[in-house]
Amino acid sequence: MDRLLEVNQLTKRYAQGNVLARIVITAVDNISFDIKPAEIFTLAGESGCGKTTTARMVLGFEEATSGTILHNGKPHTRKEKVWITEGVQAIFQDPFSTFNPLRTVDSYFHETVQNYRLARRKEEAIALIDQKLRLVGLTYQEFAGKYPNEFSGGQLQRISIARALVTDPRLIIADEPVSMVDASLRMSIVNLFKKLRDELGVSILYITHDLATAYYVSDRIAIMFRGNIVEMGPVEQVLMNPRHPYSRLLRDSIPQADPRLRWRDTVTLAELEQEEYLRKGCKFAGRCPKVMEICKRDVPADIVIDDVLVKCHLYNESGGGS
Ligand code: SF4
Repeated sequence: MDRLLEVNQLTKRYAQGNVLARIVITAVDNISFDIKPAEIFTLAGESGCGKTTTARMVLGFEEATSGTILHNGKPHTRKEKVWITEGVQAIFQDPFSTFNPLRTVDSYFHETVQNYRLARRKEEAIALIDQKLRLVGLTYQEFAGKYPNEFSGGQLQRISIARALVTDPRLIIADEPVSMVDASLRMSIVNLFKKLRDELGVSILYITHDLATAYYVSDRIAIMFRGNIVEMGPVEQVLMNPRHPYSRLLRDSIPQADPRLRWRDTVTLAELEQEEYLRKGCKFAGRCPKVMEICKRDVPADIVIDDVLVKCHLYNESGGGS
């Protein structure tokens, strides 16, 4: 199986407003991508681009309006949390909300071991949990009996990752896993993802608005804008030589003095969000420095140039762009 996850023509529409003024927003608009074994694939874009909605559909937390999601070639379309299985695990943005403050963190690990019948005796369970904790730089001894508030955000996110590893997943879906972690610790978390890919062959769907960590950790990247994938390909090509005007805007907005920081918030224009989602033709036309008449009228096709998919009229026919 050369594709662990296949997302085909996935679409999610929401109705907004009341009966008199009802509008339909296409939050995810006919997107397709796949993830190979031992690959880190990133969905990147500013807040409101559709990346988290995509992750939620992949996890079965939300039902798609149309399209298919296949894991190991098998479809999953039910509106259930069917994806949290031994094969697929998830890591979320806020490690403090992952754990109940009144429960010790080790109890979650023992529960998972029990639910999946991974050990017969307590000593076996402890050995298994310790092995997973060591992969993230912790030990059973230093975490047993402790409550979530006894750990830092970075430690707790490492613990979330160790917990996801208990069932030996092939795919981890990580939704903004470093955005609530101190800037100084972000790289240690994304380094863990590289280690899991290289040493355990785990694939990761990394959802982020942080292009700097995306560049550092990803094999391939898809840039999303208002529900569309506007550019997708090997991370080096997409971020070092962006073709789509929106990808260029994002790349140029990364602060140069400290590339570990997020991009500037100036690209987050919330008031434009609804207008852009409803726009005919190219959704970026209102902000694009290269806009042409055709952009306001026709939705651009997906064009592949040197392994990179670009959704932009600049690349029609000539395949050139500028
Ligand atoms: Fe800009 Fe037109 Fe390309 Fe959209 S299709 S990104 S408006 S040039």
